[in-house]
Amino acid sequence: MRIDVVTIFPDYLAPLDLSLVGKARDSGLLDLRVHDLRDWTTDRHRTVDDTPYGGGAGMVMKPDVWGAALDDITGSEVERPAHLVVPSPAGHLFDQRMAARLADDPWLVFACGRYEGIDARVMADARRRVRVSEVSIGDYVLGGGEAAALVIIEAVTRLLPGVVGNPDSLVEESHGTDGLLEYPVYTKPPSWRGLDVPEVLLSGHHARVARWRRDQALRLTAERRPDLVARLDPDALDGRDREV
Ligand code: SAM
Repeated sequence: MRIDVVTIFPDYLAPLDLSLVGKARDSGLLDLRVHDLRDWTTDRHRTVDDTPYGGGAGMVMKPDVWGAALDDITGSEVERPAHLVVPSPAGHLFDQRMAARLADDPWLVFACGRYEGIDARVMADARRRVRVSEVSIGDYVLGGGEAAALVIIEAVTRLLPGVVGNPDSLVEESHGTDGLLEYPVYTKPPSWRGLDVPEVLLSGHHARVARWRRDQALRLTAERRPDLVARLDPDALDGRDREV
């Protein structure tokens, strides 16, 4: 997969050299390129923003600079269709399902806004050529799209085939196919600071372990995220699930 990120703060994306995403880049599974939007400015001051039409507080990112950057980047390949992802608190809410859909795209281009955001014509114009998704990572307002791009890129990258060592760890986890939050996990030692690992996990009895984990996942989800319980498929629940 190829990912391009356009930002006025390229250094903000430095964590993409580390850990899972860094390894995906090193192994060639991910071709990630970070661009400085100011490289497409044409004035001495390298200006990327201007005052908003209609008045009001703050500044708006200029369409001509963004247009030139996106034309150059998205026009740089013909075989792969680019998908432009624009982080925005007014976008569609990002979740694991969206991460899976984005992981199927061969090429994502992130346009990181700052100030009051990007002139709306940039997205309207890009839609004439490529797929455009405005995406929010939650109901709060960040100072810029970079932190949102980091979140989305990490969630997407770990779903690329070959990135996570054991693909089973992508099956049984929160926001997976069963729609539940993950059960609590434990490792050695069996007793620590007076707290014991639940006995069933030491039993070696696979069916009992699986039932305990399912019960815990159901309980945790009901307690913390009733909205997820409401979305569960009733046909996927057994009699014991309903008791929990
Ligand atoms: N005026 C905008 C509004 O009210 O919708 C907020 C602009 S915000 C200060 C600046 C930039 O941060 C946005 O253009 C976007 O790129 C990013 N941003 C802020 N909150 C975000 C969120 N929850 N999800 C994704 N991106 C966000």
